[in-house]
Amino acid sequence: MKWLNLIQNGLFPPTCILCDNVSHCEKDICQPCLNQLIENTNYCYQCGTPFKQPTPQNTVCTACLKNPPAYNRTIAPFAHQGIMRHLVTRLKFNDNYKNARLLGMLLAEKIQAETQLPQCIIPVPLHKNRYQERGFNQSIEIARTLSKKLNIPLELNACVRHRDTPHQVGLSKQERLVNVKDAFSLQKPLPFSHVVLLDDVMTAGATLHEIASVLKKNGVEKVDVWVCARAY
Ligand SMILES: [Zn+2]
Ligand SMILES: [Zn+2]
Repeated sequence: MKWLNLIQNGLFPPTCILCDNVSHCEKDICQPCLNQLIENTNYCYQCGTPFKQPTPQNTVCTACLKNPPAYNRTIAPFAHQGIMRHLVTRLKFNDNYKNARLLGMLLAEKIQAETQLPQCIIPVPLHKNRYQERGFNQSIEIARTLSKKLNIPLELNACVRHRDTPHQVGLSKQERLVNVKDAFSLQKPLPFSHVVLLDDVMTAGATLHEIASVLKKNGVEKVDVWVCARAY
């Protein structure tokens, strides 16, 4: 169906969701806006924290060496600043499906070349009260595009957040770890050895660590983390 996309893009080229100009890159963002995204290129293999000095690929930071998180690897291609921050915030509060699709496409492009792709994508679940209040889980919506683009199944029913935890904003890393402790559980066995957790933004990684611990206790061997943006 590639030709159909070509015709459609030729007749009705997508417009940039940020500036309304015509986009020539087959995404809902134009090249000048795309160029303003700040890439996160030099970061810890395990937790995604940026290094201050240029560091060889696949290096793990000292914090992870001392106290390794339960997840094995993080892919976090953009800094949570400027345009990326704007896209993520708008997505979360306006249930903006176009933003979710764009974020999914940007992330998929960065992951495409990976050789060891996981067997399923698990978007970070919201507690049902939070989901009802918001009507939308931004991680699920981003994951839908990734699942299609990378041809990896989505797993939406295995992991639940059974405890409604207060917002993490303003908490220290330690407080965040306590806040999400025992908040997640598995509803059914997962027949996979390698899975990925997907979220929009990663800050201290406490939630991701907690879910990864649950998965590993239940037999998953390798848990990766994919996030659009890394806050630090
Ligand atoms: Zn633009
Ligand atoms: Zn690290």
